[in-house]
Amino acid sequence: MDVKRIRKDFPILSIKVKGNDLVYFDNGATTQKPLSVIKAVEHYNENLNGNPHRGAHYLGVTSTEAYEGAREKVRAFIGAEKSSEIIFTRNTTESLNLIAYSYGLNFVNKGDEIVIAISEHHSNILPWQMVARVKGAVLKYMYTNEEGRITEEEYKSKITDKTKIVSIAQVSNVLGTKYPVKDIVKYAHEKGAVAIVDGAQSTPHMKVDVSDLDTDFFVFSGHKMLASMGIGVLYGKEKFLLEMPPFLGGGDMIEYVTEQDATFAELPFKFEAGTQNVEGAVSLGAAIDYLNSIGLDKIEAYEEELTEYALKKISDIDYVTVYGPKSAKNKGGIISFNVKDVHPHDVATILNNYGVAVRSGHHCAQPLMKHLGIQASSRASFYFYNTYEEIDKFIEALKNVRKWLGYGRS
Ligand code: PMP
Repeated sequence: MDVKRIRKDFPILSIKVKGNDLVYFDNGATTQKPLSVIKAVEHYNENLNGNPHRGAHYLGVTSTEAYEGAREKVRAFIGAEKSSEIIFTRNTTESLNLIAYSYGLNFVNKGDEIVIAISEHHSNILPWQMVARVKGAVLKYMYTNEEGRITEEEYKSKITDKTKIVSIAQVSNVLGTKYPVKDIVKYAHEKGAVAIVDGAQSTPHMKVDVSDLDTDFFVFSGHKMLASMGIGVLYGKEKFLLEMPPFLGGGDMIEYVTEQDATFAELPFKFEAGTQNVEGAVSLGAAIDYLNSIGLDKIEAYEEELTEYALKKISDIDYVTVYGPKSAKNKGGIISFNVKDVHPHDVATILNNYGVAVRSGHHCAQPLMKHLGIQASSRASFYFYNTYEEIDKFIEALKNVRKWLGYGRS
């Protein structure tokens, strides 16, 4: 992969931070945009903008084509059967809430069990806590082992005949672990449960095929895969989407409205109430084109090499603790760590002085923090535009963190 050339497509990667070249290692939070995505949004706003599905006039048609064209790109990108199974949302969080409110509140009953992993992002915890509370269901957790993995024994002991829903991230946003979601979905189905996969940290970095996974629902966010913020995706198998009631009511999602009642539009419009984020969808379509032009297999392989390199270097520093798998095999490009005696916020602030951007905090995964016995961590997360040289800069800066605070001087 010609990363040097690729980096030219991303103007923001050449900015300076405190006199240093930016080293952007916060891709788990959000990714940067290539010129083709920036330009696609500009082109849409300069030439095509209108309210889709509404007007017979020229711009009503061009915006509809742009929006529906993006939906078709998403369908092909994740291997869904029909584009009517692709619902645009704001983000992963909204997609998960849509499933919880529409499917969870209507199909989960008292005493049913909902099973999630301890490493879930809060957006895959809070909606299920709500469903469990309202419906009198039980929320159960699959725990990660010392390596940051969920074993077969663990998921088979938690998913039972009582399980109604299993919801799990394909890649943990803290540990980086790639979970065996295909096996988990299969087992969930054997037990009669519905399976949901959170692809927020996988879809941008590896080939996803929802048909092969056979998952009932799949969710992800555009902004973590080169597109704008405010556009997300919910994939659902048609048979579930058809039986689910709308999540929000309003314009564009109805068939017919009377004083006391309404019938709803066909899929996917039943779940897209009000004016949608068309330029966001356009940006996602352009992002998909860009990712396809490189190839998800190449992206995954390169990120694995990069992560292996970083893991080796970081493990040479004896006062740094790494959480999650210590090898890049079956791990995404995410490394969470702590520096002995230094708060993660201080680590991130000091690294920023070297131009290195990492995240610090609980990463919206407080139950996992508790499970790991920590309050917070720092997190470096990579994308295909990152380089080995950047990892070297990060490691050198990391070696200076304790010195900044006076450790090792006396
Ligand atoms: N799930 C996972 C695994 C994530 O990493 C994130 C974002 N950190 C989310 C869900 C939520 O994504 P968003 O904020 O785009 O809704």
